[in-house]
Amino acid sequence: MELNILTVCYLLAAITFIVGLKMLSNPASARNGNLVAATGMTIAIGATIFLYQYRTGGTDENPEYSRLHNYGWIFGAIAIGAIIGTLSAKKVKMTAMPEMVSLFNGMGGACAALISVVEFDHLAFSVVPGSHEIIYPSSMIGHVLIIVLGLIIGSVSFAGSIIAWGKLNGKIKDFAFKGQHIFNLLLLGIIIGLAVYLTGWMPANGKLIFYIIFALSLLYGVFFVFPIGGADMPVVISLLNSFTGVAAACGGFLYENKVMLTGGILVGAAGTLLTILMCKAMNRSLANVLIGSFGSGGSAATGTKKEQGNYKEISLSDTAVLMAYSSRVYIVPGYGLAVAQAQHACHELEKLLEAKGVEVKYAIHPVAGRMPGHMNVLLAEADVPYEKLLEMEQANDEFSNTDVVLVLGANDVVNPAAKTDPASPIYGMPILDVELAKNVIVNKRSMKPGYAGIENDLFFQPKTSMLFGDAKKVLQELVTEIKAL
Ligand code: NDP
Repeated sequence: MELNILTVCYLLAAITFIVGLKMLSNPASARNGNLVAATGMTIAIGATIFLYQYRTGGTDENPEYSRLHNYGWIFGAIAIGAIIGTLSAKKVKMTAMPEMVSLFNGMGGACAALISVVEFDHLAFSVVPGSHEIIYPSSMIGHVLIIVLGLIIGSVSFAGSIIAWGKLNGKIKDFAFKGQHIFNLLLLGIIIGLAVYLTGWMPANGKLIFYIIFALSLLYGVFFVFPIGGADMPVVISLLNSFTGVAAACGGFLYENKVMLTGGILVGAAGTLLTILMCKAMNRSLANVLIGSFGSGGSAATGTKKEQGNYKEISLSDTAVLMAYSSRVYIVPGYGLAVAQAQHACHELEKLLEAKGVEVKYAIHPVAGRMPGHMNVLLAEADVPYEKLLEMEQANDEFSNTDVVLVLGANDVVNPAAKTDPASPIYGMPILDVELAKNVIVNKRSMKPGYAGIENDLFFQPKTSMLFGDAKKVLQELVTEIKAL
């Protein structure tokens, strides 16, 4: 009976994951979607702790089962994790969210890898009690294969996510050496070779080989993400996300735990779809992503150095007049808007202009900001209506009929080098063609480059004017100026 209640709990949890995921696809329902899925996860964890039974012996006719009993350890770990998670989530600045997501993703990978380590140990000891050698019957090949797969994918995801975390917060710089792609492929080849040897041949020194695979997978994760430079990080981040899902699904297989399997598959599938979308957005092929041979090739901040002309500046009052007397204004939000936490001021400006009869829309680039959907989340936080957000293709069709494009803390996503400079690390990435508009006003604090570390030709074009300053301050002053008109 209890087993059946457990199955019902798992079924309920699996349904909440699917419903929650669906609700996450719309900013209006996303918050509740998160709550729905979190409730399901609580049910799944609670049910596993109190109702799960595993076989301890007996005969097939008369099996003996036992419940989980290490409650002190289990609840101690849950309490520590919950306290650290809650405090860091409450403390984290919105701008640091992308790196936090990366760190949490890495923790998922680490969990999956540790499950494999523990289960491999169980395997060795349960087959030959007291022995350090692993000798297991061939019927266990499937079991060992899943343990090894979980170890490799989880470790790559953990190590890769830690490097991505460091890169997103600027603590780790892009790094590559000559022939790194060959080195990466070789490393991957050795890992796969050892995994096949361990699973298929079951050598007596299997434990040593297991730990060598563990170490090499961690190394691969590091070298896989290290050279990814310029604007290619979004693809890698979503790929690592899907790795964690697949690694968790391996744990689900191992424990025959359906809810862990469903959760892992959902994360893996969602991450894979996101990776494909990101590849499309960046105009990169998935094959290139998998061998890590794209991006800057180790010199992210290159690109052709050109003699730039002069840029021109525009004053706040001129900007206010230009915008207030336009019929159509497009806003291009970027990472700087998130840094300045200027989303509310931006929404206020939009409402003010609309009240004056100006049509205002937002042009959203798929990789603007530092995480997939960053700008959508940011603007939703300020209650900007979703219908006002145009996707890149739609916006590009509309720019030629636009009087003013206001670029707010965006840089790489409007850099024409992506179309014109084959040496640029962002070459090939579709961008927002803001230069098609009648006037372009760029707000940022200086002439410094964006994430890809390259200069932006747009700032020197005749139609472009620079409006320097922190986005929040500039927007608040613009609102005051326009109100006074
Ligand atoms: P960028 O990083 O290219 O540019 C942001 C600009 O904002 C900077 O040039 C900076 O200039 C300006 N800025 C910073 N703070 C402020 C402020 N307080 N007020 C006004 N401006 C400010 O951002 P984009 O959004 O254009 O492009 C995103 C980049 O990040 C792409 O290269 C993308 O590939 C990469 N990326 C995206 C991820 C994703 O999933 N979306 C993940 C990882 C990387 P200044 O210092 O002069 O003010």
